[in-house]
Amino acid sequence: MSVKASIITIGDELLIGQVIDTNSAVIAQLLNGIGISVSLRLAVGDDKVNILDALNTAESQSDIIIITGGLGPTADDITKPLLCEYFGGTLIENKEARENVISIFTKANRPVTERNLTQALVPDVCTMLLNVRGTAPGMLFRKNNKVYFSLPGVPHEMNGLMQSHVLPYLYDHYPLQVIAHRTMTTAGIPESSIADHIKSFEEALPHYIKLAYLPNYGLVRLRLTGTGNSISDINTRLDQQFSELQSLLKDHIVSNRDETMQETVARLLQQQNKTLGTAESCTGGYIAHLVTSMAGSSNYYLGSVVSYANSVKHDILNVSQESLDTVGAVSEPVVIDMVNGILNRLKTDYAIATSGIMGPGGGTDTKPVGTVWVAVGNKNKIVTQCFKLRYERQKNIEVTAIYALNLLRKFMVENN
Ligand code: ATP
Repeated sequence: MSVKASIITIGDELLIGQVIDTNSAVIAQLLNGIGISVSLRLAVGDDKVNILDALNTAESQSDIIIITGGLGPTADDITKPLLCEYFGGTLIENKEARENVISIFTKANRPVTERNLTQALVPDVCTMLLNVRGTAPGMLFRKNNKVYFSLPGVPHEMNGLMQSHVLPYLYDHYPLQVIAHRTMTTAGIPESSIADHIKSFEEALPHYIKLAYLPNYGLVRLRLTGTGNSISDINTRLDQQFSELQSLLKDHIVSNRDETMQETVARLLQQQNKTLGTAESCTGGYIAHLVTSMAGSSNYYLGSVVSYANSVKHDILNVSQESLDTVGAVSEPVVIDMVNGILNRLKTDYAIATSGIMGPGGGTDTKPVGTVWVAVGNKNKIVTQCFKLRYERQKNIEVTAIYALNLLRKFMVENN
């Protein structure tokens, strides 16, 4: 039996683009993980008619409906009274929810107001789902063989309730299929060329294994998803297909796991027991940010010099003044000097340097916006690459960081 779910996210902020709807993505991933496919996602404003329309649409095509948002104590939070009316109930105070509100305010050393206590009111026709991360409880309703969960909009609270109540409930009440994934990342080959190259493989895939292409930043992630009744059976079949795919794409594989480029580099650094430093001009510390966003990065990442001005490149990293004056900061000799400078300053095993024109201004005929030089290396060898990027400023920065990390990854694999 295939169980289908719909997700409805509520809030004007989602429709005006002020807040990105991450709740839907997280819920979809969690449901997928237990074999439930999401057939519909709807975002609606804080409007009664639109919410009711969304509920009607969702229940016409799914068994499970998950709603987030609009549960707060303010006038614009209309989900709770609306659901109460929809399911024909009356709002009553829930003792456990009231104690939770009081306990949260007491711990924060704040007085509890009457308005705060209205959070403990729930429809008498629902099962209250205790939200230990916040004051708005979740709610579970059932109607015509369908189940409805209403969860708070705050992502951290929504996630907590998914883990503590929604997923366990679904496990207990539905005969679920298992879903498993295998993901690899490729570089240096566009999506369309991959598709041509693996055409026969893709056509021969059994119906219970699907292939997805996820291109981003010049890298393409390929994900095989298998569905079945037995996890060991589906794992065996997925492993067979995945190893075939690996051999077909062996010259382009960056990673055989579902991991980010910074995670791949971190894994290699730890395997080799080596350290990294960065000298960043055009990326302004973005590489440092990506690397240090990972827990445990202090084991292998020593630091960065954000050498944005030429004077810093020269004074701190010992970049040749002559190169700066003649060929300019965005040039191969300068990024080579920057790598040497950071290796000497920080005494790391590896270094990355970036220098480029991120736009929108600053380009010339010979160095248009998007021209970026990257160098990576160690004390024995340095390799460089010039990229010509075509995005707007922020994306140019992000793409440069990923390309630079990928260049280091290749260097580490080839020069270990
Ligand atoms: P609260 O009791 O905190 O008011 P709530 O259920 O009323 O919870 P909302 O007021 O709708 O939730 O949203 C609270 C915050 O949660 C929003 O300001 C927004 O930042 C975030 N949020 C809401 N919906 C989403 C969503 N779909 N994806 C990501 N963030 C969201």
